[in-house]
Amino acid sequence: MTLTTHILGYPRIGAKRELKFAEESYWKGEIQQVDFLAEAQAVEAANWQAQVDAGISILTVGDFVLYDSVLTHAVRLGIIPARFKDAAKLNQVDQQFYLARGRAPNCSDVAALEMTKWFDTNYHYLVPELNSAQEFKADFSDLFAQVERAKAFNKPLKVVVPGLLTFLYLSRIVDTYETLETKQHTCECNITQREVAANQATLQFIDALLPIYAALFDELKARGVDYVQLDEPALVLDLEPEWQTAFERVYHLLQRRDGLKLIVATYFESLGANLNLAVNLPVAGLHIDISREKAGEFFWKKVIDQLPAHKILSLGLINGRSVWASDLTALNDIVQTAQKSLGDRLWLSSSCSLLHVPVDLDSEIIPAEVNGKLAFARQKLNELVALAQGNIYANAKLSPTTTQTFNLVAQSRPDTFSARFEAQQEKLKLPLLPTTTIGSFPQTTEIRAARAAWNKGDLTQAAYEAAMQKEIAYAIQQQEQLGLDVLVHGEAERTDMVEYFAGLLDGFWLSKFGWVQSYGSRCVRPPIIVGDIQRPNTMTVKWIQYANSLTDKIVKGMLTGPVTILNWSFPPAHRSRREVCLQLAEAIRLEVADLQAAGIGIIQIDEAAFREGLPLRKADQAEYWDWAVKSFKHCSSSSRIDTQIHTHMCYSDFKDCLQQITTMDADVITIETSRSGLQLLEVFHEQGYPNAIGPGVYDIHSPRTPTADNMRTVIDAALKTIPAERLWINPDCGLKTRNWAETKAALAELVSMAKQVRQELESQAA
Ligand code: GLN
Ligand code: ZN
Repeated sequence: MTLTTHILGYPRIGAKRELKFAEESYWKGEIQQVDFLAEAQAVEAANWQAQVDAGISILTVGDFVLYDSVLTHAVRLGIIPARFKDAAKLNQVDQQFYLARGRAPNCSDVAALEMTKWFDTNYHYLVPELNSAQEFKADFSDLFAQVERAKAFNKPLKVVVPGLLTFLYLSRIVDTYETLETKQHTCECNITQREVAANQATLQFIDALLPIYAALFDELKARGVDYVQLDEPALVLDLEPEWQTAFERVYHLLQRRDGLKLIVATYFESLGANLNLAVNLPVAGLHIDISREKAGEFFWKKVIDQLPAHKILSLGLINGRSVWASDLTALNDIVQTAQKSLGDRLWLSSSCSLLHVPVDLDSEIIPAEVNGKLAFARQKLNELVALAQGNIYANAKLSPTTTQTFNLVAQSRPDTFSARFEAQQEKLKLPLLPTTTIGSFPQTTEIRAARAAWNKGDLTQAAYEAAMQKEIAYAIQQQEQLGLDVLVHGEAERTDMVEYFAGLLDGFWLSKFGWVQSYGSRCVRPPIIVGDIQRPNTMTVKWIQYANSLTDKIVKGMLTGPVTILNWSFPPAHRSRREVCLQLAEAIRLEVADLQAAGIGIIQIDEAAFREGLPLRKADQAEYWDWAVKSFKHCSSSSRIDTQIHTHMCYSDFKDCLQQITTMDADVITIETSRSGLQLLEVFHEQGYPNAIGPGVYDIHSPRTPTADNMRTVIDAALKTIPAERLWINPDCGLKTRNWAETKAALAELVSMAKQVRQELESQAA
């Protein structure tokens, strides 16, 4: 007997990023909305066709949205914050884009909705903003049109809708929105790292939403839909009692007796303490993610034991977060056992939506060592059907992708910060309030053109290097003219702070089409870790040494840290993140040592994504912090006492992790402060921070030229928290997304403000 199969969702960007390109031309006004929607519907249809071709039993509808599922749901519920006054003129398609981008044709520019990370993934959703007196005006006609289109495929239909409670959990109440300026999402780190934290106040909207959900279910039933998948990933979190009670109440009130089957979908963790709650919700079925189970845990067995006798259990076996082929033999054992208890109440599925993996492996040139071992979304459909049919092909010798025995023990610098600080002052002779930047300078069209030509083979290695050297020389000259104290080479040679290193380290594979949606039309192509990580050659030394040769000033070397490289890559199968991270740390340690040997006295190790890999449940977090901090410290463990180690982090929420940031023990940390107002500095003030800090004195993401006054406000606030001896003056992130004119104007202000404050402090001291 073939078991029922379905997936929780499919990537919507299209195998060749068709949706992205259509969307971007629509935003630029190059194509009309009808044409854009036609392209979008072609991707939607291709996604259904892929499921049908693979032999998946139930077709998933409604996972395909134009920008983000949470956003689409909010717009369908009529949740449009007051500042989007002009939204009333728009249809739902443009309303979504207006809310997401703050911009729409014939509408005034306003601040876009905030976006934040979707649980522990690198996907970002738009945070719905409700007001305390929120009224809802539901219009699901678009979803119904999707259902009608799906009928052409002659399959049982399952419609995906955000669960009522997870939707409220992720929303926030905003009564007065203080817009300082339109936020623009222009770089990889420009994402607010707001914790997924429940604000119980949103629970007040349950009663208003219940009839809307009920009416939606009635209509779906009337249209012949068989199942509704309610995405409730909040059920895997450490839930407060108020939320647990709300789950019971809401699902009690939403139960159906007319044959429409509700499936509550949970993912990204096992159910943990919510097991009992989840299995007893009065719905037709429950979906659980078994990909996160720890070895020997068998949590899924507990779920089966406790599941009421009539219920469907959808087992999320095929890992929707991994690019690796599944071990079908091992999964088949699970299927056999589960089937004994459940019979045809057992459904097989992906652990979560396949949105988090690239679309298709077919057009890739796969390196021999991993040939047959990878699976992107389309290949995962086949795995699912193979399992359901008991057609267990030995898909790969899925042995661990490592050959080395792992025996690295993390090291750290022996000296205390105060001893290092003294030695570094002695050697570097930096002025009070030294000025610097975060690393990158504008990635100009010429730089991109040179790289594209080099990649295509139209530019020789020597010509490419010469072009990059020219950029470096220009950056050095500009920084000297501006009067900055610590210079950087400008990172012209880097496409991306992770991809650059992944391209030079052994053990990585860079795919050609392995794009994954990050937010809206923005896609990332995470490198894939396929083997032992090793550094065959130095990676940055020649560029930084060249920059250093052009100036008498101090040049800071620039590296990406191991935790960030790991968190923005696909990890290997069968190896712990801790072990991989330490291997990366060892590669970076060698680079630090080589930079130091080449005469570089300051080295920055960026950790933009340091907390992105933090586990969802409190109980698992300490272990993560432990290896993340150790890996970071290992990188500088062999540096001399007078080599100054900097780090940079972009996000603004340090409240719950300043202690871990402190234990990283970088000599200098540069952070974002200007966008979060001065709240961030308050955290440093309340909790104390022993080493040196460079709070960003202006927001590089804003296209406006920052004023000296704004910078002064940050510096004054910082001086109340950090003694002047330990304070640096810098922008809040890299400048690669800006142009040179803006950059020079802003940095000129920055340097003159630093000089002014320096003089004031010195005359006070005299
Ligand atoms: N050094 C990098 C840059 O300046 C840091 C970027 C980041 O943290 N996102 O671009
Ligand atoms: Zn940054």
